[in-house]
Amino acid sequence: MNKNLLRSLSDNTLNSIISDLEKLFEDGRCCPQMCNAPAKRPCGAPEEGIKVASFAVHDGEEPPVSGWNGAGNIFFSGCGTRCIFCQNWPISHENNGRVYTIDEFCEKITKLLDRKVHNINLVTGDHFLGKVLKSFSKIKESINVPLIYNCSGCHNEELFDAVLKTMDILLFDVKYCDNSLSARYSEIKDYTGPNLKCLEMLLDAEIPWIENDVGLLRRGLIIRHLVVPGQIENSLKVVELLNHYKKRGLEFKLSLMSQYFPAYKALELEELNRKVDPADYRKIVKKVEKYEIEGWIQDLC
Ligand code: SF4
Repeated sequence: MNKNLLRSLSDNTLNSIISDLEKLFEDGRCCPQMCNAPAKRPCGAPEEGIKVASFAVHDGEEPPVSGWNGAGNIFFSGCGTRCIFCQNWPISHENNGRVYTIDEFCEKITKLLDRKVHNINLVTGDHFLGKVLKSFSKIKESINVPLIYNCSGCHNEELFDAVLKTMDILLFDVKYCDNSLSARYSEIKDYTGPNLKCLEMLLDAEIPWIENDVGLLRRGLIIRHLVVPGQIENSLKVVELLNHYKKRGLEFKLSLMSQYFPAYKALELEELNRKVDPADYRKIVKKVEKYEIEGWIQDLC
């Protein structure tokens, strides 16, 4: 296969990206929460090491990502977004996991690669990106699969610039078109500002969609949107926004997700303590089809 982006970077360039990211972490500026690094960081990141809940072969991503051997997922502990309906709440809110040194992290990556995963998929890892890239730099030549950044869609601009330089594939969320929802359902007062900035950066980056000859994704952008009950207007606006970017030339596939179920603190809110209404979901699907946005539409079960 062609080299992934990481292997095509010179050591100097990669080291400079890593030290910029480490500084962002030191200062507590790695996500829009801009926490300024208090003793207990809101995202749960420890000062040293990389805290991970699990290293797993995962078959639940989109077909060209999971393929038949699975994606090599790394579920980082803690999160800067912390949606109240998060289905992985023991990891994102309660910070379950174990802290790994850089060398231990390298060993775990090597073991995943030994299992012939099709990629390495970093799940919600803004708070560890500098240390993760430092680990990767030590075993760079053996990482012969694409790197994936699986993320909330709301990022510090400097961090996202590093993502675009190092990650082959993005699984990028567009969760909200309305900041009152991000403030209510996630711990982000301004989701739309950073999210739109990232979309502009994605447009400028001109990421091509490249699959290999057996249909595995090598490079590309998948935009994900999880439909939340009662928030049909938000979802319709998200589809409008994506159509706007499609018309401006953004190359992507949409993954429309219906898999919401009430979990964690959503159980305490009447509006969220239910499933997505099938009639609402059909309206959203209809809009996706009207705009001929390609991708995957989950069935509502
Ligand atoms: S990712 Fe964590 S450490 Fe970084 S700014 Fe956000 S909350 Fe603070």
